[in-house]
Amino acid sequence: MSLARIIGIDIDGVITDETHINENIWHNALCNYLGYEIPRVKDSYYFDEAYDLPGEIIIDFLEKNIANIYAEVKLAAGARETITYLYNNEFEIHLITAREPEFEKITRKWLEDHQIPYTSLSHDENKAPLALEKGISLFLEDNACNSEALASYNIPVILFDKFHNRHLKENSIIKRVNNWTEAKKLIQEYYSL
Ligand SMILES: [Mg+2]
Repeated sequence: MSLARIIGIDIDGVITDETHINENIWHNALCNYLGYEIPRVKDSYYFDEAYDLPGEIIIDFLEKNIANIYAEVKLAAGARETITYLYNNEFEIHLITAREPEFEKITRKWLEDHQIPYTSLSHDENKAPLALEKGISLFLEDNACNSEALASYNIPVILFDKFHNRHLKENSIIKRVNNWTEAKKLIQEYYSL
């Protein structure tokens, strides 16, 4: 029996290009907001761990900047080509993002502007149960916690390499890639395309 062509894809850090650690869109926006160059204290995905800042400063920064970042973030190289290729090969493309539901409109507009074809868009922090429900047979993700949760549901993960996920080891169902060229190759092998 061949694998169901149902794929799950995260948006931030996978379809979007947040770029190099020192030129990261979030980091730059935070430095602009603060008015000085703040160092990271930890290579974490989470702001409250990455920066030595009071929680209320982080909340205020996010409230003022997040919509703009979601609207202006760059498209990752190769993302459109590969997702379009999959869509044209009759894949269901389920985009599952931890972005808050209030950003759905901005997110759909960004996807449309960047010509990303997809079957569904869900705003859900708890990705693994939803992935299971949708019958997703492979998930493209950059968040370490989500990847571990997906793996615990036996859903294979293509993990996009980021400074904040380097602690996560590869295993039989979590494979690390540097870019969409490598991801496409793994997808083609996995589904025998
Ligand atoms: Mg992400």
